[in-house]
Amino acid sequence: MNAHSLRGFRDILPPESEVFAGAEAAAREVFRLYGYRELRIPTIEAKELFVKSTGDTTDIVEKEMYAFTDQGGREVAVRPEGTPGVVRAYIENNLSQSGRNAKYFYIGGMFRAERPQAGRYREFTQIGAEHIGNPSPFADAENILVLFSILDRLGLAGLSVELNSLGCGGCRKNYRETLLAYLKANLDALCEPCRNRIDRNPLRALDCKADGPALAEKAPKMALCAPCSAHFAKTQELIKAAGREFHVNPNMVRGLDYYTRTVFEVRTSALGSQDAVAGGGRYDDLVKSMGGPQAPAIGWAMGLDRLALLLKDKPRPSADAEAFVVAASEAAREPAFKLLTELRAAGISADSSNFELSLKSQMRSADKSGAAAALILGDDELKNSSCSVKFLKDKREQLTMPAAQLPAELKKLLN
Ligand code: ATP
Ligand code: MG
Repeated sequence: MNAHSLRGFRDILPPESEVFAGAEAAAREVFRLYGYRELRIPTIEAKELFVKSTGDTTDIVEKEMYAFTDQGGREVAVRPEGTPGVVRAYIENNLSQSGRNAKYFYIGGMFRAERPQAGRYREFTQIGAEHIGNPSPFADAENILVLFSILDRLGLAGLSVELNSLGCGGCRKNYRETLLAYLKANLDALCEPCRNRIDRNPLRALDCKADGPALAEKAPKMALCAPCSAHFAKTQELIKAAGREFHVNPNMVRGLDYYTRTVFEVRTSALGSQDAVAGGGRYDDLVKSMGGPQAPAIGWAMGLDRLALLLKDKPRPSADAEAFVVAASEAAREPAFKLLTELRAAGISADSSNFELSLKSQMRSADKSGAAAALILGDDELKNSSCSVKFLKDKREQLTMPAAQLPAELKKLLN
């Protein structure tokens, strides 16, 4: 058998896995400050959920979804995004009745069968935040400020935040005709798939990776109705008042069907064409259209794989053990094992290699481990109830200390 992962699927090894964990921890802390609580949703859902919510003219559903018929003959799909599952959970569990804010975050793997390249994988991790049941621009501003705060914690400056409004059903209905006329007059500029779907969803052409940017530049812009216009203005005002900067980008459409009013994207110039780090928007009609109550909502998702690429050269706390325990004789093996337990109980991270290997081999492992100190127990140390400490990262002299003073003394030495 040839041990290979599938194309577009990858192993996230240390230290990259530690970058992921660090970003997740930062996000969790920010969510706590903002009152967002964790929702864990299933990885597999009914295929129909995504077709109906993400939308059947989106790339995600049309081309990228891992969908299959399961053993019971059910049409299912591995989730390509988190929002549909969160909305289903909100409806199914009657969360609108709970009396608490429906502010949820999720962290997990998403799956899309796209062409793999740097920053674009078939399994990737998203952190997402959804606020359901609050139509006010204060909810928009707060939801977007969560995203700013997480990026702050990660020390990621220099990202650009783009904001637009896609209006409500009313604005959209008027615009649809204008846009459709424009697209039909410019059929030559459209790729084959876009040409085939403009009647079903003209907006999608503006978001197309191939011809979208050039089209969007010249296309007529959506005129917002008075309430949508006021909502967008208030949202901008609140974000500005919080000291945050963004650009209004009237060409930004976002690739999902359910967005209404505010949409936004966080972009970087450091990742080539994989420039989107996070994206989101308001979805005022989705919950109702999925059979739930009238519950306007807003949310976003952030791609951790792309964040990790941006963060990989930043310094971060070491995950290496602080102490590496070495048994220099057969009699020392059990005491060494006991020492490991004592160190860990005292909050010192401790590791060892195989105590049954030679002293030389164990010392080699100690050197490679990244630990600050090797703690060596041999026959002499056992006789004197002591322990030898060899510093591995600096030139301090090896020393011997009474075993009873470990680990308290060690803590001081390592600081
Ligand atoms: P793109 O335009 O790059 O395809 P998208 O609009 O499809 O992104 P969203 O559905 O908005 O992406 O998902 C939110 C975030 O998830 C993106 O900003 C990105 O960081 C991340 N993401 C999306 N698809 C992938 C992927 N295939 N591999 C890695 N990260 C991804
Ligand atoms: Mg995409």
